[in-house]
Amino acid sequence: MDPLRRIVIICSPERLQPFENPVTFWLDLKPCIPYISRFQIKPNVKYLESDTLADLFDKCTKFTRARELQAQGWYPYFKAIQSGADCEVEIDGKKLVMVGSNNYLGLTQDPRIKKAAQDAIEDFGSGCTGSRFLNGTLSLHERLEERLAEFMNAEAALVFSTGFQTNLGTLATIAGKDDIIFADRNNHASIVDGNRLSFARIVKFKHNNMRDLERLLAASKQDAGKLIVVDGVFSMEGNLIDLPNIVKVARKFGTRVMVDDAHSVGVFGANGRGTAEHFGLEDEVDLTMGTFSKSFASLGGFITGSENVIHYIKHHARALIFSASIPPANAASVIAALDIIEKEPERREKLWRNVRKMKKGFDELGFDTCGSQSPVIPIVIGEDTDTFVFWKKLFESGVFANPAVAPAVPTGSALIRTSYMATHTDQELDFVLGVFEKLGKELGLI
Ligand code: PMP
Repeated sequence: MDPLRRIVIICSPERLQPFENPVTFWLDLKPCIPYISRFQIKPNVKYLESDTLADLFDKCTKFTRARELQAQGWYPYFKAIQSGADCEVEIDGKKLVMVGSNNYLGLTQDPRIKKAAQDAIEDFGSGCTGSRFLNGTLSLHERLEERLAEFMNAEAALVFSTGFQTNLGTLATIAGKDDIIFADRNNHASIVDGNRLSFARIVKFKHNNMRDLERLLAASKQDAGKLIVVDGVFSMEGNLIDLPNIVKVARKFGTRVMVDDAHSVGVFGANGRGTAEHFGLEDEVDLTMGTFSKSFASLGGFITGSENVIHYIKHHARALIFSASIPPANAASVIAALDIIEKEPERREKLWRNVRKMKKGFDELGFDTCGSQSPVIPIVIGEDTDTFVFWKKLFESGVFANPAVAPAVPTGSALIRTSYMATHTDQELDFVLGVFEKLGKELGLI
């Protein structure tokens, strides 16, 4: 007999009945004795022989898709960039025009922001070595939160270590098992995971479909606490949430509203305050989430809302309390970015000029830009394989963009995600349009 490696005890400690069809094996029960006596289980046990034993790591051996793409030369992920994030980047010793970042205002190389980060390292050191809750709050973090609240025209702001953690921490804290969260089907992964962590009932509505949302709200329990959570700008499709109707429906059903403005702060609204400012609905949104990893050219995230709600999140969010705070350089660079965003609205104007040029350019060439309304302009390709081929040809032609395939987008709607910066020059943008035109014709897309 094979050596016994694992025993499955069928009866639970509460139900000390023998299992339904007991199978008796003559085997050495010695290793099981501690469990048998601990749970007072009659020695009716079933064992799996070693050759049927499941190995936790089997999935790793079976995961071959990435290696296949690598072998075929189509693998587009984890590309190491040898230069800093900018309009042009260097990869494998070659220069490419970057249209695959979230660096909307082009601030990553701004000398004022770099200087602020360097000064903060001089004054405060390289890291905080602890969470905001205990030893990780610097006066710099408090200054940043005051500046953010002021900029966002909100009562209070709270800074987390990433945008992802902001959604996890906020959603898991603000909703609980007796509550219902209504979530757009295309919401970002961090919202999906935050919802899961909350233990609330999750009701997904069809993407940007207000009729579906209203139907689901009408059918829901009246006395439950309710939250509608949506992306302001959807990061792959580049379209805007129908906030005016979200707010209307929310009012009708007494529901709170949270907007993830990761791609909208600094970009939308007369002052760059995001989707709600763009629609003139700032008083109607209860919680606004933002990130520092896009327009703010750094790392971290924040949530704004009323003082008592932010106070509650601050004292309950595990993603905040049990994780170290952002380093001084990040906090200082975001304060410097806020100053620039406030003082230089022409950056946002330049960004939108570039976005209009590219949207018009792609539309005139005959590409499907998926109804984009933001600096994110997707080019729909269709099949995953065709998308990888298109991506590779773009890369070889000197354009860095991002492929998005299932499950990030629906099967058969794979796309190349392009996105634009305030600092792109006309020359760079014309080059990108020229490459897309040539490849689009070559591959029969236009
Ligand atoms: N929300 C959205 C809509 C995002 O696109 C992202 C990042 N891609 C995040 C949240 C997470 O932000 P971060 O990268 O700062 O963790």
